[in-house]
This record gives sequence, structure tokens and C-alpha cells, in this order.
Amino acid sequence: PYEYLQQVHQAHSGYLGGKLYRRPLLLHQGHMQWLWDTDGRRYLDLFGGIVTISVGHCHPKVVEAVTKQIHQLWHTTNLYMIPSFYEYIEKLAATLPEPLKVIFLVNSGSEANDLALFLAREHTGNFDMLTLGGAYHGASSQTMGLTSLSTWKFNLPTSFGIHVTMCPDVFRGVWGGAHCRDSPVQTLRSCSCLPGSCHAKNMYVQCFQNVLESSVGKKVAGFICEPIQGVNGTVQYPKGFLKEVYDMVHSRSGLCIADEVQTGFGRLGSHFWGFQSHGVMPDIVTMAKGIGNGFPLAAVVTTREIADNIGQAKHFNTFGGNPLSCTVGSAVLDVIDEDGTQACSAEMGTRLMQALAKLREEFWVVGDVRGKGLMIGLELVTDKESRTPLPREEVAGIAQDVMEAGVLLGTGGNHNNTLRI
Ligand code: PMP
Repeated sequence: PYEYLQQVHQAHSGYLGGKLYRRPLLLHQGHMQWLWDTDGRRYLDLFGGIVTISVGHCHPKVVEAVTKQIHQLWHTTNLYMIPSFYEYIEKLAATLPEPLKVIFLVNSGSEANDLALFLAREHTGNFDMLTLGGAYHGASSQTMGLTSLSTWKFNLPTSFGIHVTMCPDVFRGVWGGAHCRDSPVQTLRSCSCLPGSCHAKNMYVQCFQNVLESSVGKKVAGFICEPIQGVNGTVQYPKGFLKEVYDMVHSRSGLCIADEVQTGFGRLGSHFWGFQSHGVMPDIVTMAKGIGNGFPLAAVVTTREIADNIGQAKHFNTFGGNPLSCTVGSAVLDVIDEDGTQACSAEMGTRLMQALAKLREEFWVVGDVRGKGLMIGLELVTDKESRTPLPREEVAGIAQDVMEAGVLLGTGGNHNNTLRI
């Protein structure tokens, strides 16, 4: 059936731009962690529509709320006041610490990061932004510049005013796979340098400082990063790294933006927001994906002082905060609370990581198991010693085999060699 579906996709390729890839799966129904294809085969969805299904496919409480609203009112644009809008922003604001209380509702992660970029530039009067290597922050014409992942190729001058600094690689180390014995900087996990201590972390901080000082100078608008990089293959930073770079940006009056599109809403288990697990305070938080459990909803949350820089004449969004999306957002927050999904992420994440760590001991192909809560990556390698990435075709083949066995996983990373759960 998978080959047949590939043929179906091929047959329709004339309607599709470029070489847009789709997995050969014709899905038509979902319930919580399960999906069914048109032949009635059931799949356990461990990727949740690219880290988007936060409370389960068609969660009954969300379905009930949205069904009621759909019969009542869909759209008025944001010219008028809507009850579900006020109910939602109050609930969402309650999940964030002071002074992060001012909310703009939009429809996608790219739109949210676009607006965050605009806010940082308006507020500081500066243009230059810093982003980490391997980042994915969107595919709009502005956010393409912030997306530095090497597997994404934009042939446009999108990176004007955007400076990419080295992303920590705790698995391979500062020199990208060099061994301690060969390298002036010790890099292996077994060294006392990793994952967070001494000069491995300091190298990354130093690199950040160099980029900040040499290419940005004193005029920085801000810095954007995810608390854990998602598309880049669940990449974590050494302990204390984010705090140090946030301090550097703040000391130059720049703003720090936390992209919580994948890490928010309790997914990491220990905290509701990923930035909280780093002990930092961003000036702007962006969110999407899990906020709407698959419905187009996204938000930018910031401080009153920053938000006051833009009035209606500088920002408008026809669909942002419409009655349907606010109803969905509200129901999702209720379910997260009532079903205890954050505690579940912590518990399930710990169990899963322990089991996956055993796989790493048993199979050479599993180079690294990392993550937090229910945001987990398995980096696949050709051998444990060299840590050479397993070729992407082989990784895609494994994901396909797993799919045929009834389980859906994601892939990602700079070499596309990380399985994502
Ligand atoms: N930020 C992050 C961290 C993301 O993972 C994504 C989507 N993969 C985006 C922003 C962009 O979101 P969207 O596709 O909704 O525009």
C-alpha cells in the first residue's frame, strides 16, 4: 500500500510546487495518540504532527468546545470585542511570569517570530539580530533569515542584519567530533568538560561574545533561540550557557526572545515554559504549534513597555485571535491543566529516556539519546567512536520501517540523522 500511495502522490505532483515530500500515508482519522489511515490501519503518533498535538488528536473536550463555538460565531475580525478572546488571553497570561503579560495573537510560528523581530527592532531602534547555528524559526521572508539550519536552503538575501553564532553541540563537542586526545579543547562526554562545565561551555560563550562584538558592536536589537532546539534534532545547551548569553545581550540593551513553539506548554515536564528551566527571563516569548493542538493559533507575549511601541497602525492581523482559535486555545489550556499533561510529560519522558538509554548501550547505531520530558532525540551514527552521522537516506529508511510497523516518528538535525519523539 505504501508504494501505491507514493504513486498517488506522484500522480498529483503537477498540482504541487517544487519537490514537496510527503510520507506515503493517507490519514483520515485521529483520536488522542492514535491515527488511522484510509485502510483502517492504526498508528501510534509519537511525533504529534511535528510537535503540535499537545493534548491528543481530536481530544473530546477540545472537540466539544469548538463544535459549540462553530455553531455560534467564527469570525468578526478584530474590530469588535469577542468574549472568547478575553477569556483566552487572561488564561494564557496566567501561565507566564510578570512582566510578560501583554499578548498578540497570530496564526503561525513564523508570524509570531516575525512580530517578535519587529518588536525587538522597534523597541531598541537597532536592526541587528543574533541567532544560533542550526536554528529553525520560520519560513516567512523575515524569519528565513533567523533559520540557519543547513538543511534549509534559501537562495534569497534573507540574512541581512542577522548574525549566526555557534550552537553548542554537547554530543560532538566544540570541534565537531574531535576526540579529547586530538584536540586542544577536551570534548567528549567522558571528559569533565562536558556536558556543561568549564571551557566547552566557555568556548560557545566566547564565540557568542565575538560575534556580538565584532559584527554587531553596541547596536544589537536582540537574540532569538529555542530553550531546546527542535528541528535541529533536540539540541540542548550546556548548563548556564543561555544565562550568560542573555546577560551579554541585555548588557547591550538588546532583547532576548524565547521561541517556545516546540518547548512550551509543559512538554519539557519540569516547567511550563522551556526558558524557566534555564533560569532566564526573556523579553519576548513566541508560541505556536501545541498552543492550538493543531489549529492555526500562535502568540507573542511581551512586556507592557515593549508592546507600547506598536499601536494598531503598526500591527494588524485579520485572523489572529478569532473566536474559533481562542476557543480552541482556551480548551487546550484547560485540558493541559485537568489532564495533568505536564506531570505526564515528566513521568513518561523519564521512563522513555531510561528505556532508550538501554538501546544506546545495546546498538552501535544509537549514538546519543537526549532531551527533556517528551521532547526526545535519538541521534544515529555509523559508529560510536567517530560519531559520524548515519546517512539521511538510512535514517529515513528506519523511520519508514517504524511507520510500517505502526509507529510515527520525526526526523531532524543538521545531518537529518536524529529520530525525534
Ligand atoms: N519556531 C520553531 C521552533 C518551529 O519549530 C517552527 C516550525 N517548525 C516555527 C517557529 C515556525 O512555525 P510555523 O510553521 O507555524 O510557521
